[in-house]
Amino acid sequence: MKVNLDSWVRENIKRLKPYSSARNEYSGSGVIYLDANENPYNNPYNRYPDPMHNRLRDALSEMKGVDKNQVFLGNGSDEGIDLLIRIFCEPKSDNIVSMEPTYGMYKVCADINDVEYRAVKLTSGFQLDLIGFGKAIDPKTKLVFLCSPNNPTGNTLNPEDIKKLLEKFPGPVVLDEAYIDFSNQQSFLNELDTYPNLVVLQTFSKAWGLAGIRFGMVYAQKEIVELLYKVKYPYNLNTVTQDLAFEFMSKKKEKDNWVEMILKEKKRLESKIEKLPMVEKNYPTNANFLMVKITEPLAVLEYLKEKKIIVRDRSRVSLCEGCLRITVGSRKENDALLNALNERKA
Ligand SMILES: *Cc1c(COP(=O)(O)O)cnc(C)c1O
Repeated sequence: MKVNLDSWVRENIKRLKPYSSARNEYSGSGVIYLDANENPYNNPYNRYPDPMHNRLRDALSEMKGVDKNQVFLGNGSDEGIDLLIRIFCEPKSDNIVSMEPTYGMYKVCADINDVEYRAVKLTSGFQLDLIGFGKAIDPKTKLVFLCSPNNPTGNTLNPEDIKKLLEKFPGPVVLDEAYIDFSNQQSFLNELDTYPNLVVLQTFSKAWGLAGIRFGMVYAQKEIVELLYKVKYPYNLNTVTQDLAFEFMSKKKEKDNWVEMILKEKKRLESKIEKLPMVEKNYPTNANFLMVKITEPLAVLEYLKEKKIIVRDRSRVSLCEGCLRITVGSRKENDALLNALNERKA
Protein backbone atom coordinates (compact mmCIF):
# COMPACT_ATOMS: atom_id res chain seq x y z
CA MET A 1 0.00 0.00 0.00
CA LYS A 2 1.23 3.47 -0.83
CA VAL A 3 0.18 6.98 0.00
CA ASN A 4 -0.69 9.01 -3.03
CA LEU A 5 1.90 11.67 -2.36
CA ASP A 6 1.01 13.79 -5.32
CA SER A 7 -1.47 15.98 -3.51
CA TRP A 8 0.81 16.38 -0.48
CA VAL A 9 4.15 17.42 -1.92
CA ARG A 10 4.84 21.06 -2.80
CA GLU A 11 4.78 21.71 -6.54
CA ASN A 12 8.29 23.21 -6.59
CA ILE A 13 9.67 20.10 -4.87
CA LYS A 14 7.96 17.83 -7.38
CA ARG A 15 9.48 19.86 -10.20
CA LEU A 16 12.89 20.17 -8.55
CA LYS A 17 15.83 18.79 -10.44
CA PRO A 18 18.19 18.01 -7.53
CA TYR A 19 21.88 18.84 -7.46
CA SER A 20 23.82 15.92 -8.80
CA SER A 21 27.18 15.56 -7.09
CA ALA A 22 30.18 13.73 -8.49
CA ARG A 23 29.60 10.93 -5.99
CA ASN A 24 25.97 10.66 -7.07
CA GLU A 25 27.03 10.15 -10.64
CA TYR A 26 29.77 7.62 -9.95
CA SER A 27 29.83 5.66 -6.71
CA GLY A 28 31.99 2.61 -7.45
CA SER A 29 35.25 2.05 -5.58
CA GLY A 30 38.86 1.18 -6.33
CA VAL A 31 39.13 3.60 -9.20
CA ILE A 32 41.07 6.79 -9.79
CA TYR A 33 38.82 9.69 -8.84
CA LEU A 34 39.51 12.79 -10.87
CA ASP A 35 35.92 14.00 -10.99
CA ALA A 36 35.26 15.98 -7.80
CA ASN A 37 38.16 18.45 -7.61
CA GLU A 38 39.33 16.78 -4.43
CA ASN A 39 42.89 17.04 -3.15
CA PRO A 40 44.76 13.75 -3.73
CA TYR A 41 46.51 14.06 -0.34
CA ASN A 42 45.25 13.79 3.26
CA ASN A 43 43.42 10.51 2.88
CA PRO A 44 40.68 9.65 3.81
CA TYR A 45 39.38 13.12 4.66
CA ASN A 46 40.24 14.52 1.25
CA ARG A 47 37.29 12.58 -0.20
CA TYR A 48 33.68 13.67 -0.16
CA PRO A 49 31.51 11.35 1.94
CA ASP A 50 28.91 8.97 0.49
CA PRO A 51 25.84 11.15 -0.15
CA MET A 52 23.51 8.13 -0.05
CA HIS A 53 24.90 6.75 3.27
CA ASN A 54 24.86 3.23 1.85
CA ARG A 55 26.96 1.47 4.47
CA LEU A 56 25.00 2.96 7.37
CA ARG A 57 21.61 2.37 5.79
CA ASP A 58 22.49 -1.27 5.11
CA ALA A 59 23.50 -1.68 8.75
CA LEU A 60 20.38 0.05 10.08
CA SER A 61 18.16 -1.87 7.73
CA GLU A 62 19.51 -5.07 9.21
CA MET A 63 19.40 -3.85 12.82
CA LYS A 64 15.87 -2.49 12.62
CA GLY A 65 14.35 -4.95 10.19
CA VAL A 66 13.17 -2.30 7.74
CA ASP A 67 13.89 -1.95 4.06
CA LYS A 68 17.00 0.08 3.20
CA ASN A 69 14.94 2.37 0.99
CA GLN A 70 12.75 3.19 4.00
CA VAL A 71 15.75 4.76 5.80
CA PHE A 72 16.88 8.38 5.55
CA LEU A 73 19.83 9.65 7.57
CA GLY A 74 20.27 13.21 8.69
CA ASN A 75 22.38 15.63 10.69
CA GLY A 76 20.42 14.76 13.81
CA SER A 77 16.70 14.03 13.60
CA ASP A 78 16.30 17.82 13.62
CA GLU A 79 17.34 17.82 9.97
CA GLY A 80 14.48 15.43 9.21
CA ILE A 81 11.97 17.73 10.91
CA ASP A 82 13.06 20.71 8.82
CA LEU A 83 13.19 18.75 5.54
CA LEU A 84 9.72 17.30 6.04
CA ILE A 85 8.26 20.77 6.52
CA ARG A 86 10.09 22.07 3.46
CA ILE A 87 8.88 19.16 1.32
CA PHE A 88 5.22 19.24 2.30
CA CYS A 89 4.29 22.73 3.49
CA GLU A 90 3.77 25.78 1.32
CA PRO A 91 4.97 28.84 3.29
CA LYS A 92 2.28 31.35 4.31
CA SER A 93 -0.47 28.95 3.27
CA ASP A 94 -0.18 25.42 4.70
CA ASN A 95 -0.13 24.45 8.36
CA ILE A 96 1.13 21.67 10.58
CA VAL A 97 -0.70 20.31 13.61
CA SER A 98 1.07 19.05 16.70
CA MET A 99 0.49 18.52 20.40
CA GLU A 100 1.23 20.77 23.38
CA PRO A 101 3.42 20.55 25.31
CA THR A 102 6.05 18.84 23.21
CA TYR A 103 9.53 19.20 21.71
CA GLY A 104 10.14 22.81 20.67
CA MET A 105 11.82 22.16 17.32
CA TYR A 106 8.59 21.41 15.42
CA LYS A 107 7.37 24.95 16.03
CA VAL A 108 10.77 26.55 15.45
CA CYS A 109 11.12 24.79 12.08
CA ALA A 110 7.55 25.74 11.16
CA ASP A 111 8.24 29.38 12.12
CA ILE A 112 11.48 29.50 10.11
CA ASN A 113 9.64 28.16 7.07
CA ASP A 114 6.72 30.57 7.63
CA VAL A 115 4.32 27.68 8.06
CA GLU A 116 1.48 28.02 10.55
CA TYR A 117 1.89 25.84 13.64
CA ARG A 118 -1.26 24.62 15.38
CA ALA A 119 -0.85 23.14 18.84
CA VAL A 120 -3.54 20.91 20.31
CA LYS A 121 -3.28 20.72 24.07
CA LEU A 122 -2.83 17.25 25.53
CA THR A 123 -5.41 15.99 28.01
CA SER A 124 -4.68 16.38 31.72
CA GLY A 125 -3.22 12.85 31.59
CA PHE A 126 -0.84 14.01 28.79
CA GLN A 127 -2.68 11.99 26.12
CA LEU A 128 -3.86 13.00 22.65
CA ASP A 129 -7.10 14.97 22.40
CA LEU A 130 -8.35 13.37 19.19
CA ILE A 131 -11.41 15.62 18.99
CA GLY A 132 -9.11 18.62 19.29
CA PHE A 133 -6.94 17.25 16.47
CA GLY A 134 -10.06 16.75 14.36
CA LYS A 135 -10.94 20.40 14.85
CA ALA A 136 -7.43 21.74 14.21
CA ILE A 137 -6.84 19.75 11.02
CA ASP A 138 -8.14 21.35 7.84
CA PRO A 139 -7.44 20.97 4.09
CA LYS A 140 -4.30 23.09 4.49
CA THR A 141 -2.83 20.73 7.09
CA LYS A 142 0.07 18.92 5.47
CA LEU A 143 1.81 17.29 8.42
CA VAL A 144 0.98 16.07 11.91
CA PHE A 145 3.79 15.86 14.50
CA LEU A 146 3.56 13.53 17.51
CA CYS A 147 6.17 12.68 20.10
CA SER A 148 6.20 9.46 22.15
CA PRO A 149 7.72 9.19 24.70
CA ASN A 150 7.00 12.89 24.82
CA ASN A 151 9.44 15.63 25.77
CA PRO A 152 9.04 17.20 28.36
CA THR A 153 6.18 15.19 29.90
CA GLY A 154 8.07 11.90 29.46
CA ASN A 155 5.03 9.67 28.97
CA THR A 156 4.18 7.48 26.00
CA LEU A 157 1.08 8.25 23.98
CA ASN A 158 -1.65 5.63 23.82
CA PRO A 159 -0.76 3.58 20.69
CA GLU A 160 -4.43 3.16 19.83
CA ASP A 161 -4.79 6.95 19.63
CA ILE A 162 -1.74 7.19 17.34
CA LYS A 163 -3.30 4.53 15.09
CA LYS A 164 -6.60 6.40 14.99
CA LEU A 165 -4.80 9.56 13.86
CA LEU A 166 -2.86 7.58 11.24
CA GLU A 167 -6.17 6.27 9.91
CA LYS A 168 -8.04 9.57 10.05
CA PHE A 169 -5.43 11.97 8.68
CA PRO A 170 -4.40 10.92 5.16
CA GLY A 171 -1.17 12.98 5.05
CA PRO A 172 2.16 12.18 6.71
CA VAL A 173 2.02 11.66 10.47
CA VAL A 174 5.47 12.13 12.00
CA LEU A 175 6.07 10.18 15.21
CA ASP A 176 9.19 11.28 17.08
CA GLU A 177 10.67 8.33 18.98
CA ALA A 178 13.85 9.99 20.27
CA TYR A 179 13.40 8.27 23.67
CA ILE A 180 12.02 4.93 22.49
CA ASP A 181 15.04 2.96 23.79
CA PHE A 182 14.19 3.99 27.36
CA SER A 183 10.55 3.05 27.00
CA ASN A 184 8.75 -0.19 27.71
CA GLN A 185 6.59 0.46 24.70
CA GLN A 186 6.98 -0.97 21.21
CA SER A 187 8.36 1.25 18.49
CA PHE A 188 6.02 2.03 15.60
CA LEU A 189 8.79 1.06 13.16
CA ASN A 190 7.19 -2.27 12.38
CA GLU A 191 3.96 -0.46 11.44
CA LEU A 192 5.58 1.24 8.43
CA ASP A 193 4.00 -1.20 5.99
CA THR A 194 0.60 -1.03 7.69
CA TYR A 195 0.41 2.79 7.67
CA PRO A 196 1.90 4.22 4.49
CA ASN A 197 1.58 7.75 5.90
CA LEU A 198 3.67 6.93 8.99
CA VAL A 199 7.02 8.69 9.41
CA VAL A 200 9.15 7.66 12.40
CA LEU A 201 12.01 9.78 13.76
CA GLN A 202 14.76 8.21 15.82
CA THR A 203 18.18 9.44 16.85
CA PHE A 204 21.61 8.38 18.11
CA SER A 205 21.68 11.41 20.39
CA LYS A 206 20.13 9.88 23.51
CA ALA A 207 20.37 6.13 24.21
CA TRP A 208 23.40 5.71 21.94
CA GLY A 209 25.26 8.57 23.62
CA LEU A 210 26.24 10.24 20.34
CA ALA A 211 24.61 13.68 20.49
CA GLY A 212 27.96 15.21 19.55
CA ILE A 213 28.27 13.57 16.14
CA ARG A 214 24.76 14.63 14.92
CA PHE A 215 23.19 11.49 13.56
CA GLY A 216 19.45 10.92 13.27
CA MET A 217 17.07 8.80 11.25
CA VAL A 218 13.81 9.20 9.41
CA TYR A 219 11.98 5.96 8.59
CA ALA A 220 9.15 6.15 6.08
CA GLN A 221 7.83 4.66 2.90
CA LYS A 222 10.28 4.66 0.01
CA GLU A 223 8.66 7.58 -1.81
CA ILE A 224 9.03 9.90 1.20
CA VAL A 225 12.65 8.78 1.73
CA GLU A 226 13.39 9.57 -1.91
CA LEU A 227 12.01 13.07 -1.43
CA LEU A 228 14.21 13.58 1.64
CA TYR A 229 17.30 12.53 -0.34
CA LYS A 230 16.25 14.84 -3.14
CA VAL A 231 16.03 17.93 -0.93
CA LYS A 232 18.87 17.49 1.60
CA TYR A 233 22.31 19.08 1.27
CA PRO A 234 24.40 16.78 -0.94
CA TYR A 235 26.85 15.87 1.84
CA ASN A 236 24.69 16.28 4.93
CA LEU A 237 26.54 13.57 6.89
CA ASN A 238 30.27 14.14 7.07
CA THR A 239 32.88 11.38 6.90
CA VAL A 240 33.75 11.52 10.60
CA THR A 241 30.11 11.11 11.59
CA GLN A 242 29.51 8.30 9.13
CA ASP A 243 32.60 6.41 10.28
CA LEU A 244 31.91 6.85 14.00
CA ALA A 245 28.23 5.99 13.64
CA PHE A 246 29.16 2.79 11.81
CA GLU A 247 31.71 1.89 14.45
CA PHE A 248 29.26 2.43 17.33
CA MET A 249 26.44 0.59 15.60
CA SER A 250 28.30 -2.64 16.25
CA LYS A 251 28.25 -1.80 19.97
CA LYS A 252 24.56 -2.30 20.51
CA LYS A 253 25.31 -4.27 23.67
CA GLU A 254 27.06 -1.27 25.15
CA LYS A 255 24.06 0.91 24.31
CA ASP A 256 21.70 -1.58 25.93
CA ASN A 257 23.97 -1.62 28.95
CA TRP A 258 23.90 2.18 29.23
CA VAL A 259 20.12 2.20 28.94
CA GLU A 260 19.89 -0.36 31.72
CA MET A 261 22.21 1.65 33.98
CA ILE A 262 20.33 4.86 33.29
CA LEU A 263 16.96 3.25 34.00
CA LYS A 264 18.29 1.79 37.23
CA GLU A 265 19.67 5.16 38.30
CA LYS A 266 16.37 6.76 37.33
CA LYS A 267 14.51 4.49 39.75
CA ARG A 268 16.92 5.33 42.54
CA LEU A 269 16.77 9.04 41.80
CA GLU A 270 12.96 8.97 41.73
CA SER A 271 12.61 7.17 45.03
CA LYS A 272 14.84 9.75 46.75
CA ILE A 273 13.42 12.80 45.02
CA GLU A 274 9.84 11.85 45.83
CA LYS A 275 10.69 12.06 49.55
CA LEU A 276 11.87 15.68 49.40
CA PRO A 277 9.44 18.15 50.96
CA MET A 278 9.87 20.59 48.05
CA VAL A 279 8.62 17.95 45.58
CA GLU A 280 4.88 18.13 44.99
CA LYS A 281 4.73 15.49 42.29
CA ASN A 282 7.10 13.31 40.33
CA TYR A 283 5.46 12.39 37.04
CA PRO A 284 6.12 8.87 35.79
CA THR A 285 8.23 8.97 32.61
CA ASN A 286 9.29 6.54 29.92
CA ALA A 287 12.47 8.41 29.10
CA ASN A 288 15.90 9.27 30.52
CA PHE A 289 14.61 12.24 32.47
CA LEU A 290 12.28 13.10 35.31
CA MET A 291 9.61 15.73 35.30
CA VAL A 292 9.17 17.00 38.81
CA LYS A 293 6.70 19.51 40.16
CA ILE A 294 8.39 21.62 42.79
CA THR A 295 7.38 24.41 45.13
CA GLU A 296 9.33 27.49 44.07
CA PRO A 297 10.84 25.85 40.97
CA LEU A 298 12.73 28.97 39.89
CA ALA A 299 14.37 29.39 43.29
CA VAL A 300 15.47 25.74 43.19
CA LEU A 301 16.73 26.19 39.62
CA GLU A 302 18.84 29.17 40.72
CA TYR A 303 20.04 27.41 43.84
CA LEU A 304 21.19 24.41 41.80
CA LYS A 305 22.87 26.68 39.28
CA GLU A 306 24.95 28.18 42.08
CA LYS A 307 25.99 24.64 42.94
CA LYS A 308 26.95 24.19 39.27
CA ILE A 309 24.13 21.74 38.63
CA ILE A 310 21.99 22.64 35.64
CA VAL A 311 18.46 21.30 35.18
CA ARG A 312 15.84 22.46 32.70
CA ASP A 313 13.14 24.94 33.63
CA ARG A 314 9.78 23.80 32.23
CA SER A 315 7.79 25.65 34.90
CA ARG A 316 5.98 27.93 32.46
CA VAL A 317 5.15 25.25 29.89
CA SER A 318 1.45 24.50 29.66
CA LEU A 319 0.39 21.43 31.68
CA CYS A 320 3.89 21.39 33.20
CA GLU A 321 3.42 24.41 35.46
CA GLY A 322 5.93 24.39 38.29
CA CYS A 323 7.98 21.59 36.80
CA LEU A 324 11.70 21.09 36.33
CA ARG A 325 12.99 18.53 33.86
CA ILE A 326 15.93 16.60 35.23
CA THR A 327 18.07 14.36 33.04
CA VAL A 328 19.24 11.16 34.70
CA GLY A 329 23.02 11.34 34.92
CA SER A 330 25.71 9.01 36.23
CA ARG A 331 25.47 7.78 39.81
CA LYS A 332 27.98 10.40 40.88
CA GLU A 333 26.13 13.20 39.14
CA ASN A 334 22.81 12.11 40.57
CA ASP A 335 24.30 11.95 44.05
CA ALA A 336 25.57 15.51 43.67
CA LEU A 337 22.05 16.58 42.74
CA LEU A 338 20.47 14.70 45.64
CA ASN A 339 23.00 16.11 48.11
CA ALA A 340 22.36 19.64 46.92
CA LEU A 341 18.59 19.24 47.17
CA ASN A 342 18.85 17.67 50.62
CA GLU A 343 21.06 20.50 51.86
CA ARG A 344 18.56 23.09 50.71
CA LYS A 345 15.80 21.45 52.71
CA ALA A 346 17.95 21.68 55.81
C1 LIG B 1 16.60 15.19 21.94
C2 LIG B 1 15.44 15.07 21.02
C3 LIG B 1 15.64 14.86 19.65
C4 LIG B 1 17.03 14.69 19.13
O1 LIG B 1 17.35 15.49 18.12
P1 LIG B 1 18.74 15.26 17.37
O2 LIG B 1 18.69 16.33 16.34
O3 LIG B 1 18.67 13.89 16.76
O4 LIG B 1 19.82 15.38 18.35
C5 LIG B 1 14.55 14.73 18.83
N1 LIG B 1 13.29 14.78 19.33
C6 LIG B 1 13.08 14.97 20.63
C7 LIG B 1 11.69 14.97 21.14
C8 LIG B 1 14.14 15.13 21.51
O5 LIG B 1 13.90 15.35 22.81
